[in-house]
Amino acid sequence: MTLTGCVTAVQANFYRVKLDQPQASTDRLLCVRRARLKKIGQQVCVGDRVVVTEPDWQGMRGAIAEVLPRHNFLERPAIANIDRLILVFAFPEPDPMQISRFLVYGEFLQTQVILCLNKRDLIDEPTWQTWHARLLDWGYDAIPLSVEQGEGIDRLKTHLGKGIGILAGPSGVGKSSLINRLMPEQQVPTGSVDPKYGRGRHTTRHVELFELGNGGQLADSPGFLQPLLPMTPLALGACFPEIKRQIKTDRCEFSDCLHQGEPGCKVSTDWERYSHYCQFLAEVQTQASLRAETTNPEAKTKTKKGGAEPLLSKKKYRRSSRRSLVQSLDQDLEGTGQT
Ligand code: GDP
Ligand code: ZN
Repeated sequence: MTLTGCVTAVQANFYRVKLDQPQASTDRLLCVRRARLKKIGQQVCVGDRVVVTEPDWQGMRGAIAEVLPRHNFLERPAIANIDRLILVFAFPEPDPMQISRFLVYGEFLQTQVILCLNKRDLIDEPTWQTWHARLLDWGYDAIPLSVEQGEGIDRLKTHLGKGIGILAGPSGVGKSSLINRLMPEQQVPTGSVDPKYGRGRHTTRHVELFELGNGGQLADSPGFLQPLLPMTPLALGACFPEIKRQIKTDRCEFSDCLHQGEPGCKVSTDWERYSHYCQFLAEVQTQASLRAETTNPEAKTKTKKGGAEPLLSKKKYRRSSRRSLVQSLDQDLEGTGQT
């Protein structure tokens, strides 16, 4: 007998699978991964659509024999097939650069992005209007929330239909409070930061999908806090609605244009997030050259004096080894407050 389902939790070598075809006795099986999958190095993660064999209805056990193709994949925490990214930021001072970074990540994942600005109760109407207009200008509508006062929750719920949603955003913006509002039976602790690590307690690796009660599922893991932008320099432009808008009808002369003043470039520099674009571009170029260095160690030694090194031109990224360089990138991100 063959069944299909979705992995809702992973613990050690066990996978909880919610079946598409619930049986009278249960709609969930605790599964192991078939040895064949292990052999070919096929990981199974939360959100994966899987084929389950050998169901034992009494013991509520089964075996995962196959992982169906993923339509996207988030690495940290590992979640597959994300349908929507619910981004949460908060007043009184949402950080535009940080919002931008998460938005770009959402575009990269090619999922629906739902942008929420929480703690609306801390600001006045004109301030909200200014932010709303600003984000619309970027290409995004934002939902004002006051999780504490219950404002905006119903409106947000209308956007959370079938499929897998994941909450993301910096710590302290109210993600745990929001989870508690959306899933009262869940009750995760709020407002606490682990004194030992100086981080929210939700940065653990454990991820689980919870039912929202309307066919939708929410990953209870605000652990996705520091999106290192994983795209190539060329793909970054497609993550900005402002750029897409500008080159929709009038394309740049060169197909590999990075919109940095190249001849025949059709993207103006006169828009608010252009500076974000330039900074992110420098970042992804740094990462790209790091990857090139790893796959082709020769490349580094071949670099001539004053030659092909501009991708690593930021002084602070010049470290002695790749490892410390990656660490410094991480630290830089942590320095942006995304911990
Ligand atoms: P998380 O780190 O993103 O999970 O944030 P928490 O849910 O732990 O909330 C951080 C703090 O913000 C807590 O002290 C909450 O009480 C507070 N908070 C959450 N929602 C609101 C809100 O709508 N308005 C205000 N003023 N404070 C809020
Ligand atoms: Zn261009």
